[in-house]
Amino acid sequence: MRNTLILLIVSFFLTPVFTVAGEKSKAMDNVDIARRMRPYVWEHSIFDSAEHVADVMLKSNANAIRFSAISQHGNYVYYDSRFFPRHPGLDRDLLRELADEFKKHDDLHLFPYNSLGYFVNEKICEKQDPDWRQVTAEGSYIPASWAGATGYWVCLNNPGYIDTYAEACKEIVEKYGVSGMYFDGPRWGDWGGGGNCFCQFCRKVIADKYGVEPDNSMLDKHRSEINAQGFKYAMTTITKAIKSVRDIPVIYNHGMNNPGLYDLMDITDGGLVAEIHRGQSSFMNVFKLIKSGAAFDKARWAYSPPGNYNDFVTYDNLDPMIFGMTELAHGCTPIVETMHPYMYDETGIPSIREMFTMMEQNEDLYFEYKPVPFVAMPFSRQCVAKVSEYEIYWRGALSALTHEHQQFNAILDDDITIENLKKYKAVFLTNMACMSDKQIEAIKHFVMDGGGLIATFQTSLYDENGSIRENLALKELFKTDYEGLESPTFEHAYGPRVYFRMVKKHPITKGIGKDKLIANDYMFETYSQTSFSRISPLEGAEVIADVQYVVDDPEWIGSDGCFMPPYTLKNGPATIVASTYGKGRVVYIAPALEMLYDARGFHLVRKLLSNAVDWVTDNSRPVKIEGPACLVTNLTELGDKRALHFINYTGNNHEKPSYKVDWVAPLYNLKVSLRNPEGKELQKATLLNTGQELTFESDGEHTTMIVPKLEVYECIMLDYK
Ligand SMILES: [Zn+2]
Repeated sequence: MRNTLILLIVSFFLTPVFTVAGEKSKAMDNVDIARRMRPYVWEHSIFDSAEHVADVMLKSNANAIRFSAISQHGNYVYYDSRFFPRHPGLDRDLLRELADEFKKHDDLHLFPYNSLGYFVNEKICEKQDPDWRQVTAEGSYIPASWAGATGYWVCLNNPGYIDTYAEACKEIVEKYGVSGMYFDGPRWGDWGGGGNCFCQFCRKVIADKYGVEPDNSMLDKHRSEINAQGFKYAMTTITKAIKSVRDIPVIYNHGMNNPGLYDLMDITDGGLVAEIHRGQSSFMNVFKLIKSGAAFDKARWAYSPPGNYNDFVTYDNLDPMIFGMTELAHGCTPIVETMHPYMYDETGIPSIREMFTMMEQNEDLYFEYKPVPFVAMPFSRQCVAKVSEYEIYWRGALSALTHEHQQFNAILDDDITIENLKKYKAVFLTNMACMSDKQIEAIKHFVMDGGGLIATFQTSLYDENGSIRENLALKELFKTDYEGLESPTFEHAYGPRVYFRMVKKHPITKGIGKDKLIANDYMFETYSQTSFSRISPLEGAEVIADVQYVVDDPEWIGSDGCFMPPYTLKNGPATIVASTYGKGRVVYIAPALEMLYDARGFHLVRKLLSNAVDWVTDNSRPVKIEGPACLVTNLTELGDKRALHFINYTGNNHEKPSYKVDWVAPLYNLKVSLRNPEGKELQKATLLNTGQELTFESDGEHTTMIVPKLEVYECIMLDYK
């Protein structure tokens, strides 16, 4: 009986066909299946009855649970395994209970959660194979502990450990009819460290690669290659093992910032692209992960807060809708962390249900539509690894463009190719210091052909491995020479030492004005970057802004009791230049103004960055919106259809990230102007939530309309012909 039911579940997943916007049909692949799951998260704790779990899932309109199988607490397990012991004190097979219960329902799915790497409990190691453990240069095992358990870091290059782990995964897939497998990791250790293993298998990685028997110093030198090999070995072996039993979705939470991890997205069906915990993260920090994670063409799971620091409360507020719809509007799958408080306090269930029901009713809208390509903003993994605080530059640019309602999407390092850039009007390189020659060529080609380019600070000064070049590799496009880093020092505690002055009337300074000063002052922020590039313009450069140095009155300097002497401003070199290259326009900004925006939120800074986008794209925005900064928008498309998503996160959420949103200020009469897609006219505009048809006016090039009211989320469905 059980086997029959498992087969039914399998066939349900292997054969369904769904309609994409009424136009074509395709069979769901594993990526589609994983995208469309509506999961609750449940980690490391025990439920009273599986029936109760199913009941809460059904009430929430969730259809999957990411439930612990192989534990983070030392590789104990929550089911009956031939390979790992059950958690001490646990006399139940929790996976069996869930699997048996879910068989009674048409659409409830088990997605086991397995910690991969981290540490293995000492008793398991000692019993199974003591050599699973990482060893120091001196040959001793490295103890680790977490949450009260003690154990040892394990080696991801150890075939004994990885094979045993893979067999345990096969066993789960064979025995429990699971709909997919999820891995937290792989990790070389835990929060306390790990990943400096000198075992025979780590030695072998280097011996095989370089053909010599390596000494310890050689292992130190090639550590990142050894660890990258461990990630690859673990993920490849385990994914293959699972798929040898049944072709189901396999999702990893593999971080992607460590060397070697980014490419491994290719062997997965998806990743946890936004492991976000609301208690620690501002909206923009959460959004940064959503928007950058959306660049992967796989299932992108994202914690829809609740996060793990709020495990014991339910969300009877607007957070699930605000974050869930932000994720869905960008093609990510919200997964709710965590479920167990909902078992005992059902007040938050309606919020979760509302979010999952929107998702279920509009799956194609969220997972088949793609962002209308306009500005591409590479989120460079090669820079994450090499450029200090790279993600803050990126978050600053993200915030500035979002607050100005510019249409943009993240792309990956590998997406910077001549072919792929063709669909964009502009590329925004936010301190993309590390770039390969091939990427440089693609950008040159793109701009030569008429594409727009905005770049800041040290963009292109280093190669992809972080080796410095003699000059900016994009110097021909920027029309500037790089002359080094300018690092203003502080003589006294108050006031900026440098201003950036707008020196001319230009579309880039529109709404800012000639002679306006923008203060370069990060001194109260924790960011380390307060420097900017010292540049000299080359022929063809149009100087938009220069540097103004603060010069203290010398008579006051050194006088006791004075910490803020009178000052004058002294002219410095150019700092923002505009130019053309081939058919394209270029703006190069020597300071990291996007980081300044992240730090200070000066509205003139975001205005300037947005003006730069408008200028390099010759004012061809696909959508213009008159609305406040905290209105997030995304224009997506599929065939002749477009959809304009709005998320409104105004309201009482400004005190601390951990404060939940229980009210947003509704927005009224939002004016929207859409550029008509080439050769097409708008036929119909409908609001997703209310079904209301909007009236609109078209001048042949643009179509304008008014959205009468926006609460948390709305979407205009647009039919073109
Ligand atoms: Zn090792």
